[in-house]
Amino acid sequence: MDEKDSRILLVYTGGTIGSVKDVEAGGLVPIDFSEIHRHVPELEQPGRSIESASFEPPIDSSNMGPEHWRLLAQIIRDHYEDFDGFVVLHGTDTLAYTASALSFMLEGLRKPIILTGSQLPIGLPRTDGRENLLAAVEIAAASRFGEPIVQEVAVYFGSSLFRGNRTHKASAESMQAIISPNFQSLAEAGVDIIYNDAQMFRDTTEEFGLFDTLDSDVAWLPLFPGQPANLIRRITEWPELKGLVLSTFGSGNAPSNSALKAALSEAHDRGVVMVNVSQCGHGSVHPERYATAHLLRDCGVIPGGDMTTEAALTKLMVSLGKGWRGEAMRAAMLGNMRGELTRFSSLVS
Ligand code: ASP
Repeated sequence: MDEKDSRILLVYTGGTIGSVKDVEAGGLVPIDFSEIHRHVPELEQPGRSIESASFEPPIDSSNMGPEHWRLLAQIIRDHYEDFDGFVVLHGTDTLAYTASALSFMLEGLRKPIILTGSQLPIGLPRTDGRENLLAAVEIAAASRFGEPIVQEVAVYFGSSLFRGNRTHKASAESMQAIISPNFQSLAEAGVDIIYNDAQMFRDTTEEFGLFDTLDSDVAWLPLFPGQPANLIRRITEWPELKGLVLSTFGSGNAPSNSALKAALSEAHDRGVVMVNVSQCGHGSVHPERYATAHLLRDCGVIPGGDMTTEAALTKLMVSLGKGWRGEAMRAAMLGNMRGELTRFSSLVS
């Protein structure tokens, strides 16, 4: 290997992308990932070397949780110095949660961590996995003036590269299954891969490090018309509850009802951190826009701006794990930790 060859570590966690149809077994089975080069010979390119690692056993991403994010982040941390970039192959179902969690757990990143997956198995003729994998590897190996172009956790899917903590799975059918509803793509792959340099995130933390003490005593409460007050109380009175993401209407509105107000105020007084995100796929919460948002503000609910639910939940887990409470927690949730939100002037109080 030439000294300047880029070294990429491929980590297979599980999911459709790493499976083939097995006629005898009568369904999809995971490939032996150490043989990925046999399935995708185009991975071999001059100027780069690829090594692989795999979760044992690989898991469907519906089974992913903080302990797997920790394992994945530890693999990256342990190999950080030895590789120029990392490609993580992941099921699409919870890919946006893993990408969001990793973005908050890894600090001072100076190298690309590119997650990808596919809708069709890599072993099928019409697979999208081959293109997703090859482009993700190319992006992970891309540098300019000796510096990696991407230095953050990102997701490559269906010709676009997105910031990881801005992603959301929007389709169980389309080859453009993963979207970034509130933030432009970091790159687009056509004949060339065109990087959108102005969109890239650069972490100012000097030292690379891993924070992996997540606290998952959190809940997610989508509001809906006619929601029984007892249901809300069941959640806000869960004794372990430390953090709550509320999915509200439109630009951050909630029903003006005294039962909701009482439940949220009591939770706030008990120290539960509450964050407001919109249940619209696109846009931001604006807590001053409608009177129906004032109730939440008055109960101490923190506006989550244009964060995805995935980002809000995982940022909360990390922030609770750091032990932040009160004003420190409010500042963390309103602040931009890893490019996960757009700072609207109406949110900065
Ligand atoms: N259920 C699968 C998973 O998320 C679907 C996929 O791989 O895309 O692991």
